[in-house]
Amino acid sequence: MLRSHKIRLAPNNKQSTYFAKACGVARFAFNWALAEWKRQYEAGEKPTQASLRRQLNAIKREQFPWMLEVTKNAPQMAIVHLGQAFQNFFAGRAKYPTFKKKGIHDRFALTNDQFAVSDKQIRIPNLGWVRMREGLRFSGRIMSATFSRKADQWFVSITVDTKDRPPTCENQAVVGVDLGVNRLATLSDGTLIQGTKPHKALLNRLQRLSRSLSRKQKGSKNRVKAKRKLARLHVRIANIRNDELHKLTTRLASQYGVIGIEDLNVKGMMANHHLARAVGDMGFHEFRRQLEYKTGMRGSQVIVADRWFASSKICSVCETKQESMPLSTREWTCSECGTHQERDLNAAKNLMKWAVSSTVTACGEDVRPAHTEAASMKQEFNAKTTYV
Ligand SMILES: [Zn+2]
Repeated sequence: MLRSHKIRLAPNNKQSTYFAKACGVARFAFNWALAEWKRQYEAGEKPTQASLRRQLNAIKREQFPWMLEVTKNAPQMAIVHLGQAFQNFFAGRAKYPTFKKKGIHDRFALTNDQFAVSDKQIRIPNLGWVRMREGLRFSGRIMSATFSRKADQWFVSITVDTKDRPPTCENQAVVGVDLGVNRLATLSDGTLIQGTKPHKALLNRLQRLSRSLSRKQKGSKNRVKAKRKLARLHVRIANIRNDELHKLTTRLASQYGVIGIEDLNVKGMMANHHLARAVGDMGFHEFRRQLEYKTGMRGSQVIVADRWFASSKICSVCETKQESMPLSTREWTCSECGTHQERDLNAAKNLMKWAVSSTVTACGEDVRPAHTEAASMKQEFNAKTTYV
C-alpha cells in the first residue's frame, strides 16, 4: 500500500533558495510542455509526456541554461505530471490542465534515485543533507518525494510502499457526526468534542495584520513584509485546525464501523463570500477526505447523507419535522413528542439513523428517511457558520 508522510523541513538559506529555484524550473517545464502540447496537437501531431521530455532535454542547454542549476529530475517530473493531468482529463476525471502561476502550489518532485532519507534528514545531490522536523513514519520502499511551500515554510511529502497498516476496526458501532462551529463535533452517542479553537490572540493578530497590510503602499517593501507575516500566521492557524481534524478523523475511523456525516455543498457555500471564511475554518471538505481514506485503510465505512436531508429540523425521537428552526435556536422542544432536543446532538442522531438505514438499504430493503427539503439547505448552512 502506498502511503505518504508530509514532513516540515528546516532548510538553511542556501537550501531554501535551491528549493525555490527548483519549483520555478518545474513550473516553467510544466508550462512549456503544456503550451507545446497545445501547439503540436493543433498541428495534427500526437504529443506525449515522453516525447515532450525528450524535446525539452534537447533544447534546454541552448535555450534555457538556467534550468541546469537544479536537478534535472524537477523539470522531468513536472512533465510526467502534465501527462497524468492529461490522462485524468481524457478519462473525464479532471478539467483540461491549466498553466501554473508563481506562488500558487509551488512544488517539485523527485524520483527515489534522486534522494536518500536517513533518520531526520533527507539528502539531495549537490545540495547535501536537509534537516527534517521529524523522522519518516512508515517503513518500506521509498518511492518518491514532493517538495512544496506554504507561506515561507518548506515541506517534503515522502511516498512509501509499505506494509504498515493501521489495525482493522473491529467495532461495528454506528455513529452520526455533526460538525459545528461552536463545537468541533457532536457524536450521536453524546460525545462532545470541543476542539481547541485557534487561540483568540491568534485571531486578533490576524485582524491586526490584515489591517496593517491594507495600509501599506502597493509595491513597497513594507507591504511585502506585511504580506509574508500574514501568510505565515494563516499557515499557523491552518496547521492547528488540520492537526485537530486528523485527531478527530483517526478517532472516528478506528472506533466506529459505520460513520454517518452530512453532505455540505462546499462549492455552493464558497459562492457566498461571508460564509467562505467560516467554511475554510472548518475544513469540511478536508474532514471528509481524511475520514474516507482512514476508514478505507481500517475497513470501516463512511455514509454521506443526502444533500437535502434536514438533519437539524427532524426530531430524532418521533421523526416529526419542525416547521421552522431559526439559526439562533440551539435547543428546542418537539411539538409532537415533547422531547427536549439539543440542536447538534439531535442532528448527529439523525445522521446516525440515516447511516443505519442506508446500510440496510444496501442489503435490499428500502427504508431511507423521507424528510428532505431544498429550502432547509440555506438555513442549515447558516446555522453552521456563525463564526466570527
Ligand atoms: Zn419528537
